[in-house]
Amino acid sequence: MPSSTKYIFVTGGVTSSLGKGIIAASLAKLLQARGYSVTIQKLDPYINVDPGTLNPYEHGECFVTDDGAETDLDLGHYERFLNVSTSQANNVTTGRIYQYVINQEREGAYLGKTVQVIPHITDEIKRRIKLLGNTGNYDIVITEIGGTVGDIESLPYVEAVRQLKWEPNFDCIVLHLTLVPYLATSGELKTKPTQHSVKALLESGVQPDILALRTEYKLTDGVKEKVALFCNIEPKAVIQAIDAETIYDVPNLMREEELDKVVLNKLSLPYKDEPTLTAWNEVLNRIKNPKHKVAIGLIGKYIELKDSYKSIAEAIIHAGASNETEVDIKWIHSESITGDNVEEILSKLDGILVAPGFGERGIEGKISTIKYARENKVPFFGICLGMQGAVIEFARNVLGYAKAHSTEMEPNTPDPVIYLMEEQRSITEKGGTMRLGAYPCSVEKNSNAFDSYNKEEISERHRHRYEFNNKYKEEFEKAGMKATGINPNNDLVEIVELENHPWFVSVQFHPEYKSTVINPHPLFVNFIKASMLIKEQKMHPASN
Ligand code: GLN
Repeated sequence: MPSSTKYIFVTGGVTSSLGKGIIAASLAKLLQARGYSVTIQKLDPYINVDPGTLNPYEHGECFVTDDGAETDLDLGHYERFLNVSTSQANNVTTGRIYQYVINQEREGAYLGKTVQVIPHITDEIKRRIKLLGNTGNYDIVITEIGGTVGDIESLPYVEAVRQLKWEPNFDCIVLHLTLVPYLATSGELKTKPTQHSVKALLESGVQPDILALRTEYKLTDGVKEKVALFCNIEPKAVIQAIDAETIYDVPNLMREEELDKVVLNKLSLPYKDEPTLTAWNEVLNRIKNPKHKVAIGLIGKYIELKDSYKSIAEAIIHAGASNETEVDIKWIHSESITGDNVEEILSKLDGILVAPGFGERGIEGKISTIKYARENKVPFFGICLGMQGAVIEFARNVLGYAKAHSTEMEPNTPDPVIYLMEEQRSITEKGGTMRLGAYPCSVEKNSNAFDSYNKEEISERHRHRYEFNNKYKEEFEKAGMKATGINPNNDLVEIVELENHPWFVSVQFHPEYKSTVINPHPLFVNFIKASMLIKEQKMHPASN
C-alpha cells in the first residue's frame, strides 16, 4: 500500500480548451508505465451538481462511471489512457461542494458560526481532493482544475491549492498549462500571455512548479529560458506541448520532454522503470499506418459539437486500430434524414451507428436510417436511443404497428414498445435519477454479441429512463428480432439483434464508455470488422 500519496495539480491559463485533460492523462500514463499507481480527478467550477443535466452543446458528452456518476468527458480520457476505472470521487463540481456545505449547515454542523467561502468551502474542496489519496490505493493523484486561472468561479479552487501547498506533510506540485501563440505578422512565438497567466496565479499566492506550453511550432531554448526567467521556473521544467497528430501521441511527446522525470524529481520520487509504452505504441502505430479504410455514418442530433459523441468516436478509433483500418466517420445530422433522401445520404456508407439521445428532435430521421440499414443489410450498431429506435422501427415496419413509439416521444402511443421503467415512474427530479452505471447482462450464446464478447456474463454502463416493453418480446422474436442480452436480475432487454442480417446489434447500454486504447470494446471491434467485410463484398461481388 502506498505510504503517502503525492499530489499534482494541473491548472490552465490564457485560454480554455488547451487540453489540460490530455496533458494530465498523458502524464498519468507515463507515471503508470514507470510502475506508479495513479488516478486523476477533475474539479469543475460550475454550479450544476453534475453535468448530467447539461445539454451536450454546453459541455460535450456526459461520461458515466461504473458506480453511476455522471461526469465530465475528461474522465473518459483518463480511463481510455490509463485503462483503469474512475468513480464518483473523480469528478467534483462547485455545485456538489456547496450542496454538501449547505446541507451540513442545515444539520447544525457549524452551529453559531458564519459559513464562508474561506474556510468552509475551501475546506470541503480540500477534503474532496484528499479523498482519493486517503483510499490508500494511489501513489499519485493528479487533480485537474477546470476553467482558466483568473476566472472568478475558479478562485476557491486556486485558494485551496495555495493552502495545500503550505500544509505540513502534504506533498504536492503545480503544473500550469498555457499557450504560446505564433504571430504570423512578426513571425514570432509570443510568451507574454504566459507571463501574465503566471502572474495571475502568483496574485492568488500560487507559484507553479512546472509550465507546459501549448504551441503550434517547436519552442527554441531561448523561448523556454525567457519563460523560465520571468516565471521563476527552472528551464528544464518548462515543457513544450506541441500540437500532435493524434491525442494518443501526447504521452510520447511528454516523454521526449521528460515531463515524467521533472515531476518525479520535484516529488522526490525515484524514476523506477523506464516507461516503454510498448502495447500503447503498437496501437498508435496501427492508428497511424492503417491498411484499410471504411466509412461509418454516425447519426446523431448534436453533431455540430463533435465532443457530444467523444467516447463513441474514440471507441471507433480503438476498434479501427484493432482491425488495422482507418475509419472515416461521416457525421450525419439525424434531422437532415427523411424517408425520401435516406438512400442518397447513406448509400456510400459501409456501416451505420445510431447514437444515444433524448427527446423528440431528430428521432424520425434515426428511424428512417435504421429502416434503411435493416432492409439493405448494412452493418448496424444502435446505442441506447439507437437501440430504442431499432425496436420502434421494427414494430412499425415489420410487425405492422404503424403508430408504435416510445412513450418518451409519444406518451399516448397505442403501442408503447419502449416505455418508462417501473422504477422511474414516481421520479420527478431530473438530476442523477436515471438508471445509471454498471449492470449485469447475460448474453445468448448463438448471437453476434456473444461472438464479440466471447462471454456469457458481461457488465456494461447505463444512462436511460426508458426500456424495451417485454409485453411485445415474443412477437418480436417470432418475426426475427431477438433479445440476445438480458439483465438476469430483472429481465430488462439489454441487446437486440436481427436474424438474416450480416450484423445488426443494438444495445440499451453504453459500450463506448468502456473502450480503452489497450482494450478496444469487442462490439465496436466486430461492428467495424463487419463493415469492412461488407465493403470488401461490395468491391468484389463476383468472389461471393
Ligand atoms: N432517451 C432515452 C432514455 O432515456 C435514451 C437515453 C440515451 O440514449 N442515453 O431511455
